[in-house]
Amino acid sequence: MPRIAIAGVAGRMGRALLSAAVDSDVVLVGATARSGSSIIGSDIGLLVGSQSLGVTVVDRVESLPSDVDVLIDFTSVDAVADHADFCRAHKAAWVVGTTGLDTVAQAIVRETAEHVAVCVAANFSTGVNLLLDLLARAATALGDKVDIEIIEAHHRHKVDAPSGTALAMGAAVADALDRDLDAVAVFGREGMTGPRERETIGFSTIRGGDVVGDHTVLFAGEGERIEISHRASSRMAFAGGAMRAAQWLSGRAAGYYDMRDVLGLREK
Ligand code: NAD
Repeated sequence: MPRIAIAGVAGRMGRALLSAAVDSDVVLVGATARSGSSIIGSDIGLLVGSQSLGVTVVDRVESLPSDVDVLIDFTSVDAVADHADFCRAHKAAWVVGTTGLDTVAQAIVRETAEHVAVCVAANFSTGVNLLLDLLARAATALGDKVDIEIIEAHHRHKVDAPSGTALAMGAAVADALDRDLDAVAVFGREGMTGPRERETIGFSTIRGGDVVGDHTVLFAGEGERIEISHRASSRMAFAGGAMRAAQWLSGRAAGYYDMRDVLGLREK
């Protein structure tokens, strides 16, 4: 069983990941929280209502055991460089769930993937990754006869918009239609926008309450509309996928992977 460590266990995803790890075929050997967190020094088993695991939360990734097989990271963009250094130094695989990575952070992740196995996904749920496949098929079939809009809703604490998942959905549709997402994406509308251009892919963002994550892709044509939706009702959907990714990555050759590789959805 892979020996895993979880970064940022004080966070919403960190807590879900701890619960998922206790119920998965992995050995939980370490966890971090940001310096100053009240849970530093706590036993990670007791944190999730399980038995004591004899492993305490540390405040620096460098303090994790050196024989970690996989680091699971749903934290923040500013943690990427330290986590990359740890994975390279200890030949640990890296599950990257943090979204909103800027170009510098993306470059660090790509570079790290030349040395260790890295799995990056804006959404680790099995359902969303299946849906990305369905979206590409729908876009190919409907072609330029429809207007495509992506609507997403998340809880009020989310710091990036639109969500990484919405952008991944936009990329799946744009790729299927041979469009360049950067060129055709429209983020919100206001004022005298003029009529809609067929080629554009619109993104609308809703933030509020405790919404875990809702995404709808709307294909609007003449006389009919198709809506393909995914609703996450619990962060366990992402945490379970991240554990699956950790198991798949353990012992794998260096490379940049995503959930399509983990789920065997990659076209042969
Ligand atoms: P959160 O704010 O509740 O938790 C983030 C935690 O990381 C915080 O406790 C913070 O203190 C901690 N942290 C930040 N830097 C750290 C560091 N250097 N060392 C240790 N801990 C550190 O946020 P969240 O809702 O749990 O989301 C975290 C990230 O995961 C976000 O980028 C979010 O968009 C992303 N996310 C991804 C998926 C997916 O499937 N890919 C699903 C849900 C959330």
